[in-house]
Amino acid sequence: MQLHYIDNAAHPSSGGRTIPVIDPSDGQPFDEIQRGSAEDIALAVQAAQRCLESTWRKLSAAERGRLLMRLSNKVAEHADELAAIEQRDCGKPTKQARADALALARYFEFYAGACDKLHGETLPYLDGYSVLTWREPHGVTGHIIPWNYPMQIFGRSVGGALAAGNVCVVKPSEDACLSLIRVAQLAAEAGFPPGAINIVTGYGHEVGDALARHEGVDHISFTGSPRVGTLIQQVAAERHCPVTLELGGKSPQLIFDDADLDAALPFVINAIVQNAGQTCSAGSRLLVQRSIYEPLLERLGRSFQALRVGPAALDLDVGPLIRQSQQERVRDFLAQARDARIATVAQGQIVNEAPASGYYAAPTLLRDVPVAHRLAQEEVFGPVLAAMSFEDEDEAVQQANATRFGLVAGLWTRDGGRQLRVAKRLKSGQVFINNYGAGGGVELPFGGVKSSGYGREKGFEALYGFTTLKTVAIRHG
Ligand code: NAD
Repeated sequence: MQLHYIDNAAHPSSGGRTIPVIDPSDGQPFDEIQRGSAEDIALAVQAAQRCLESTWRKLSAAERGRLLMRLSNKVAEHADELAAIEQRDCGKPTKQARADALALARYFEFYAGACDKLHGETLPYLDGYSVLTWREPHGVTGHIIPWNYPMQIFGRSVGGALAAGNVCVVKPSEDACLSLIRVAQLAAEAGFPPGAINIVTGYGHEVGDALARHEGVDHISFTGSPRVGTLIQQVAAERHCPVTLELGGKSPQLIFDDADLDAALPFVINAIVQNAGQTCSAGSRLLVQRSIYEPLLERLGRSFQALRVGPAALDLDVGPLIRQSQQERVRDFLAQARDARIATVAQGQIVNEAPASGYYAAPTLLRDVPVAHRLAQEEVFGPVLAAMSFEDEDEAVQQANATRFGLVAGLWTRDGGRQLRVAKRLKSGQVFINNYGAGGGVELPFGGVKSSGYGREKGFEALYGFTTLKTVAIRHG
């Protein structure tokens, strides 16, 4: 049985209720988490406020950095343990679960070094004045985290917030929170004072909503669906609380006829099958120049057929989806494709060892998906790639921009002029040229435009969002 982690101690929920934890590989419950309440959130916010006043704000930036570095080392030492927890909780194949744990260590390492590099400026002004700016933490930051990459998203949002001098109350997803409870325990072992990192588990409409509404929360970092992002924004607007929104995507991968296809195809496939397609930045639309469309689909089809799907512990190409409703969602999208006579080019194989009670979905390559169809417009959040063709640069850009999202775009061409021309015209927070995702580097700012959200996390840029700027103007005596 897992408890909340508040003030460096395990806490049962005030209401005494729990939620079962299901292993997506076999659909069976194996643990329980607390079903938190607004009272539990209030406890956590009070703990954070006490920490801020008594300890945290008195630490120098360098001292905060040392704590973050100690936590980075702890996470790296416990990477296998954290990966095993994440594997069972989220159904991640071993290599992905381990990569997530190491990314978490790397986030803390990056933000450890960033703490004492964040500073304000002095500004030229009237004679007789000195003007300076201070970058001050918001205070208590609330972090609402989805289930698809708990450790990575915790690292980028909580890491940045702590580095900037905030203290944190975290509401992980009810579908995946075990690794984060363990990370909070490791933070206590690393020397973080009570109240600096607090974890309250439970449902979004109960605990998440209470966190977003709490008057003591000075900033909200939300990563999740556009639907809930809208709710968070509405709730936060009532008390003018700043928010960062990292939402969904329907990201295009554009392939021009001069592209290096040998280099491109592994990226194209990985971009849609990584984490079973349950990735905000999944490259879920494939836009191919007409002259190479057929041969490319043929090659890609062969690769899709070779993909193997099965229990997380087997460490195959693709693991299960997170839960049954997600599996039904993917099936529903594929049924709609059939109804619209959208052709399937190829599908991967679910292996015999996969229990029928697990939440598996075969990676699927669809062709000639109309730009206006739901499959080209909405996040499936499963391993389904929608291919379509374009004639020239103008049509490629038009198709790429023809959704409400704008998170990531991948662009494959050897023509240097086209690389920059097209990258400039893409409405997207990130453009990856001749790669996809740039290895997920923690140094690279990340965020969306349009319905993919706003604000940036990751990299140094995140620290500006986790601070507020105070201008101090001094008239000399
Ligand atoms: P979700 O919006 O259902 O849930 C996200 C979090 O919000 C969970 O912790 C949930 O409990 C909480 N929540 C739900 N209802 C709430 C409410 N009324 N008030 C407050 N909190 C509430 O999203 P999900 O299904 O967990 O994650 C998948 C989504 O996240 C996808 O849309 C994906 O694209 C997006 N995502 C975006 C990024 C990014 O960086 N842009 C990264 C990962 C995931």
